[in-house]
Amino acid sequence: MSSILSRLPFDETLIYINGEWTKSQASQTCRVENPDTAETIATVPECNARDLDLAVQAAYSAFHDGPWVNEYSGAQRRDALLALATAIEESRQDIEELESLNTGKPINDVRVELDDTIDLFRFFAGYADKVEGRHIAAQTNRNLEGYTVKVPVGVVGFINAFNYPICLLAWKVAPALAAGCTVVFKPGPQTPLTTQYFAHLLHKTGKFPKGVFNVVLGGVGVGQALVDHDLVDKIGFTGSVATGKQVIRSTASTRNVRCTSVELGGKSPGVVMPDADLDKTAKLVVSGCMANAGMNCNALTRLWVHRSIYDEFMPRLKAAAEALVLSTPQDTATEMGPLIDKRQYDRVLEYIRIGRDEDQAALLTGGQPALGRGYWIQPTVFYNVSPTARIATEEIFGPVLSVLEPFDELDEVIAIERKNEFGLAAGIFTRRHQDIAKFTRKLRSGTIWVNNYNALYSYLPFGGFRNSGFGRELGYESFDGYLVPKSIIDDISY
Ligand code: NAD
Repeated sequence: MSSILSRLPFDETLIYINGEWTKSQASQTCRVENPDTAETIATVPECNARDLDLAVQAAYSAFHDGPWVNEYSGAQRRDALLALATAIEESRQDIEELESLNTGKPINDVRVELDDTIDLFRFFAGYADKVEGRHIAAQTNRNLEGYTVKVPVGVVGFINAFNYPICLLAWKVAPALAAGCTVVFKPGPQTPLTTQYFAHLLHKTGKFPKGVFNVVLGGVGVGQALVDHDLVDKIGFTGSVATGKQVIRSTASTRNVRCTSVELGGKSPGVVMPDADLDKTAKLVVSGCMANAGMNCNALTRLWVHRSIYDEFMPRLKAAAEALVLSTPQDTATEMGPLIDKRQYDRVLEYIRIGRDEDQAALLTGGQPALGRGYWIQPTVFYNVSPTARIATEEIFGPVLSVLEPFDELDEVIAIERKNEFGLAAGIFTRRHQDIAKFTRKLRSGTIWVNNYNALYSYLPFGGFRNSGFGRELGYESFDGYLVPKSIIDDISY
């Protein structure tokens, strides 16, 4: 048994509700795997609607009757979040080991994700004591004083994807707690362990009153029950388009409508212009696509290469993809890990088959399982792919890049990308100012990278257009999404 599993500081068979580790009311359990080997590393409860109800009731009582909202100042919430950031920092080695084991992510990548996680709690702590309203001068009656106060949205139900368990938890939970909300959190069913570790640390700080943060584990059943629960004021969802649409439909069907933010999939284009540095760009494109084994909502998966450099660029791209080190995730030399589970592994292999047989795309490299164990697939690059091919338009969520047929004019690319179902991210590689300006102004994508890819900061909002969803994570915009304004009108002559 891996050393971290033998010294977990929490009991993974329990769930964290109302400030206590409790037994689930359900008898069903979920197997948790190590995707590197496909071995079972833990068994956790598969929560039912009763567990969910207890978690929501706890968050509801904590919000309406507890001290977190009603007694704590913003500065006290700030200090609680800062203490939590320090607690995560002090346990980061354990969390990194656990995250790498449960996700198959290369340990170096997990370290960067932990840097981000800690930074996010500190960043959003800084907003907790800076909630501002506005004074609005009376328009018709000088005796009226109008002003707004911003109040927390209430109980927030979070449903997370499996691909960045601890980091996406921080994206959601840090701003929500800073704003004074209370939380019920459901991680992806494949990757619950670092969420439980997080709950353990939050508890250990002693700074979060009971019911402020609660965890439920499981998949569709408990996720749907959370979306359907009438005491939840906001749903923050990250996942696929199909589930996101289901969540939106459900939140409109409950007795009380509630606000929703949905962070969904992507099929993000990259454009290589004639003046690009081809060696540098090939490496940036490969990491832009293959980071997290391609299980990245903003992965660069549709690549446009200018006709004048197409033939020169392909061998560089092939070499960069083949140079990626696939090895044990805990080895510091490893650059790409396995897919998360058998379902995702089968899905990616099926798309590789579709690329070859149905889309008739040419294979530049990869296309096969790797390492002979677990859920590993080689970094795969197709070229001369039609922009309307299935592998070029559907989200694969694996290490598969489609280099499209060569293009001649940037305007042509922009016109086609306007019809892209998704609008999460895009990239352009050029030093030409006019092309950069045209691309960044015209493209309807939530994030546009120029001569880099995948860099994200706590203070820059992240989110999509069209089927990539709505709402923003990170930045002030995300914090503001957990607040609602109330308008107060006071007659001072009364
Ligand atoms: P998924 O849609 O299968 O599941 C997402 C979450 O929803 C899981 O926790 C799942 O248990 C839960 N769920 C499933 N059915 C539900 C229902 N009916 N009601 C409520 N919850 C339900 O997605 P996934 O495979 O976990 O994640 C991959 C997807 O997430 C990709 O499409 C990826 O692009 C997207 N993603 C988007 C972002 C972003 O910020 N835009 C970030 C990460 C991942």
